[in-house]
Amino acid sequence: MEDVAVSIEAVRSVGDGGIAVELSSPSGFAAAPGQFVNLSAEVAGEEVSRVYTISSPDVDRTFETTVEVDPEGAFSPWLAEASPGTTVRMSGPYGNAYYEGEPRVVIVAGGPGVGPAVAIAERALADGGEAAVVYRDEVPLHRARLDSLATAGATVHVLDAEEDLAPAVADAVSGTEDEQVFVYGFDGFVGQARAAIDAAGGDRTAAKVENFG
Ligand SMILES: Cc1cc2nc3c(=O)[nH]c(=O)nc-3n(C[C@H](O)[C@H](O)[C@H](O)COP(=O)(O)OP(=O)(O)OC[C@H]3O[C@@H](n4cnc5c(N)ncnc54)[C@H](O)[C@@H]3O)c2cc1C
Repeated sequence: MEDVAVSIEAVRSVGDGGIAVELSSPSGFAAAPGQFVNLSAEVAGEEVSRVYTISSPDVDRTFETTVEVDPEGAFSPWLAEASPGTTVRMSGPYGNAYYEGEPRVVIVAGGPGVGPAVAIAERALADGGEAAVVYRDEVPLHRARLDSLATAGATVHVLDAEEDLAPAVADAVSGTEDEQVFVYGFDGFVGQARAAIDAAGGDRTAAKVENFG
């Protein structure tokens, strides 16, 4: 879809510095958790566009994206202050690193990568599959959804910002044929996640990776 008007239905805090933005799904919108959309709005008289990854398990009536607000940024603080009913323009979905019904999912997430991580894990469990999440951040977001995932049987590792990814990734990656590993996060994190997948005996080239830049 190109440049469709969508309404912000709600903006909720999901932890210190993190928000979940719920948007109306336009008619005919089809997207999977892990794909991303481009959102545009006029901010302080200028047109600003940024891309955000879908963090809801489905997009049936509304969809969600999880944003780590950069106080110095142009767009994320504006989103954090947006009132319900505010209209933004959306294009998408885009991206190749998304859930496609794999029976076992392992998601390695840094920072706002927690959004697609919880969404994919929730969707996989709802589909009768297995899920493991390894999430590293300075201040963890989505604690309630991560706790619910663990209660529902998912493996969940929440790591401190400086913690080594390798042991948790080794615990999460089983190496079975029906397993798909996903990586979401900013550039430095993605490199460390790939190295941890290698160290765990996984295949980094088979991982579905979205680099947030
Ligand atoms: C595929 C993809 C998916 C993404 N998914 C998500 C997601 O799900 N959630 C999420 O939170 N983010 C995601 N991002 C990142 C997101 O698109 C934005 O980059 C992020 O929200 C910051 O936008 P901003 O407008 O708030 O900050 P920006 O205005 O882009 O600024 C970011 C930082 O750079 C600094 N800066 C800006 N310009 C300069 C300059 N000229 N010189 C020096 N410093 C400068 C600013 O001070 C600020 O600290 C994704 C990115 C990609 C590529």
